[in-house]
Amino acid sequence: MLSYQHGYHAGNAADVLKHFILFLVLQSLKKKDTPFHFYDTHAGAGAYSLESSESLKTGEADSGIKKLLQLAEQSSTGLPSEITLWLKTLDLIQTQAKDTKLYPGSPYWAQHLMREQDRATLLELHPIEYQKLRDWKARDKRIKTFPEDSFKDFKSHLPPRAARGVILIDPPYELRSDYLNVTTLLVECLKRFAHGIYLIWYPVVERGNEITLLRQIKDLQIPKTLLVEINFRAERYGLGIAGTGLIIINCPWQIDSQINSALPWLANNLGDIAAANYRIDWLVPESLS
Ligand code: SAM
Repeated sequence: MLSYQHGYHAGNAADVLKHFILFLVLQSLKKKDTPFHFYDTHAGAGAYSLESSESLKTGEADSGIKKLLQLAEQSSTGLPSEITLWLKTLDLIQTQAKDTKLYPGSPYWAQHLMREQDRATLLELHPIEYQKLRDWKARDKRIKTFPEDSFKDFKSHLPPRAARGVILIDPPYELRSDYLNVTTLLVECLKRFAHGIYLIWYPVVERGNEITLLRQIKDLQIPKTLLVEINFRAERYGLGIAGTGLIIINCPWQIDSQINSALPWLANNLGDIAAANYRIDWLVPESLS
């Protein structure tokens, strides 16, 4: 039974970190003309409103995108250049959609960055979210959507025809089994598409479920596996998630330094508590020797 709906969380601190890193990775692929394929195993609805009743009910975007936009308005000079560029892209997406309250989900960020030669495959299991996703992508022939269970069906979509691909694995982790399912899915995907760039989102939670996930991914010993994490408070106990992280497998060149230039600022400004701490570590470095 699926109860998670991303509209309650869109534009929160976790979304900001995830979509900022997705943006950096896709931008880096665009340096070459050769096509790339974007995959979203848990795509959500595609587009969200920061003024929807769901968004206003949780107020999560207040300590995420809304906070960043306020800071940018007060003083654009204090922002890392990568964040300024990301916010400019958000502004462009909103302007094109003629909707200043729009917050794009991962499929939307990818669509905006895709060129004629690029393709996307999006999976979403929740029937209502899937219908919204289909409506959002409308007639874009570069994008295909499937109402499938990623943990069962996604591997059959690999490998892509294009030589280069980014796979975002972004489950809600509502079920404890999601953690193990992510590792199993990743192992199956790597067999079919070993040089894909995998972005795996995880929450830092009270029970420490992500610790096993990180250990299992580290044990795969795939060179160039980067971990990026922001912890909103020192304690993992308490209300809501304590932090947010992303693992990047086959991390493209220079992405680590781009993230590094923005991460201290993001950690200071995302979330409710100032001076959150952050990590950026190679779980597995480029060369194992
Ligand atoms: N990737 C989206 C973004 O960044 O904008 C957010 C996705 S949200 C965190 C997770 C989504 O996964 C939800 O819409 C949920 O309905 C969907 N979902 C949950 N289990 C799934 C499964 N086994 N297969 C495919 N989708 C699933």
